[in-house]
Amino acid sequence: MKRELLEIVVASGNPHKVLEISAIFAQEGLGEWVQFLSLSDVGGPFAEPNESARTFQENARIKALAYAALTHRMVLADDSGLQVDALDGEPGVDSAIWAGEQGTREQRDARNNQKLMMAMQAVKRTDRQARFVCCMCLADVDGTIIAQTRGACEGFIAEAPMGDGGFGYDAYFLVGDKNITSAQLSADEKNKVSHRGHATRLLARELRAMVGVPTQ
Ligand code: IMP
Repeated sequence: MKRELLEIVVASGNPHKVLEISAIFAQEGLGEWVQFLSLSDVGGPFAEPNESARTFQENARIKALAYAALTHRMVLADDSGLQVDALDGEPGVDSAIWAGEQGTREQRDARNNQKLMMAMQAVKRTDRQARFVCCMCLADVDGTIIAQTRGACEGFIAEAPMGDGGFGYDAYFLVGDKNITSAQLSADEKNKVSHRGHATRLLARELRAMVGVPTQ
């Protein structure tokens, strides 16, 4: 049976996210069914909505609805960050700008990591549990929420940085119970275990059931 290709706009200025999400959808057997577009493919960049909520899920919803209204397209939005148990869940939804909003992304990342090391200085190895969380929201053209998913990657905050891959807090995040940070994983390895990878796979599976694509 011939089906129409579903076009989904990824609400992110980051072209890597579009590639990462497309690759996971292809692995889930949806490569021929869904085509992802970036904001610039549909006339962007647009004014960014205010991510004012205190949960990842709500921020993802705000973004998906705002861009669906702006683009008149089906939109996939995500919000993610790091939660550290010893810091009562901080930096959480403030992960990107925890140590201030000024400067380039690299400068913000460096300051955030410095703040993290200072805050965790006196915390012992066994109390350094943390997780990356990613919430996704898929909104239809008319603002109906089609699906919402959450993915997490559990681990520990390292005592010193390791690796130079990835971005953000990657060099300071020990994955699971291993002595490897997410900055030491290849892009493929990270996709398999990451919060964004899990949230994307859950979303692909929900969509697959909705459009009636058989499981592989
Ligand atoms: P965003 O929601 O993808 O923009 O992520 C918000 C912030 O959370 C980023 O600026 C990073 O500081 C942090 N973050 C999210 N995902 C990751 C990751 O996979 N590795 C490292 N840091 C991340």
